[in-house]
Amino acid sequence: MTEIRIDKLIRSRRKTIGLQITGDAKLIVRAPLFAPQNFIEELIQRKQSWIRAKQDFYKVRQRQVRRFIPGEEFLFLGQSYPLVAAEDLPKAIVFDGHLRISSLVLANARQHLESWYKAQAFEYIAQRVQHFAKLAGLGYKSIKINRATTRWGSCGPKDTLNFSWRLIMAPCDVVDYVVIHELMHLKQKNHSRKFWAEVAGMMPEYRQQERWLRAKGHLLAWPE
Ligand SMILES: [Zn+2]
Repeated sequence: MTEIRIDKLIRSRRKTIGLQITGDAKLIVRAPLFAPQNFIEELIQRKQSWIRAKQDFYKVRQRQVRRFIPGEEFLFLGQSYPLVAAEDLPKAIVFDGHLRISSLVLANARQHLESWYKAQAFEYIAQRVQHFAKLAGLGYKSIKINRATTRWGSCGPKDTLNFSWRLIMAPCDVVDYVVIHELMHLKQKNHSRKFWAEVAGMMPEYRQQERWLRAKGHLLAWPE
């Protein structure tokens, strides 16, 4: 059996060792500041069957290829829609309660879907940012939409808010959570207790949405 590799070791002022397997099957170990390396390795040895089982699960899931053809299901604000090919559409993609794609662009379906999602994401997220910024009395510089696959949002040093277009596939409350999370970084540029208290002040049940992202975030990333 090959040895288990630690992909990331994060030491902090915690009291116990925590193991986490990420959606891309990486092992993250969180450990107390002065926990000896051999102590950490021993624990990993003891937990190796659990680690391997989880890593295998995520590896299999990563290989599930998404196809961009009619009949395939696509998420939009938490709802799933089968892609429907249609003639005579005014645009490449039309959403009218059904997700329609012009038969003329089927060969480049992925690309057209991506730009459609990106446009929807910008419109919807900008509106939610404005809403919550006003509610919290916060000013931001600008909003950018990128194509990140695991980092759903970020707050730049110059108060620019960045969001992945993929977020528009998640349910509305999850989008709101990420918006609120990034907006609260305008006040607190860290993940301190104070920061989480600010988030909870805007969205008391935010842990549910966090859990959704951890459990289902992979649905938003389309493997290349
Ligand atoms: Zn954050």
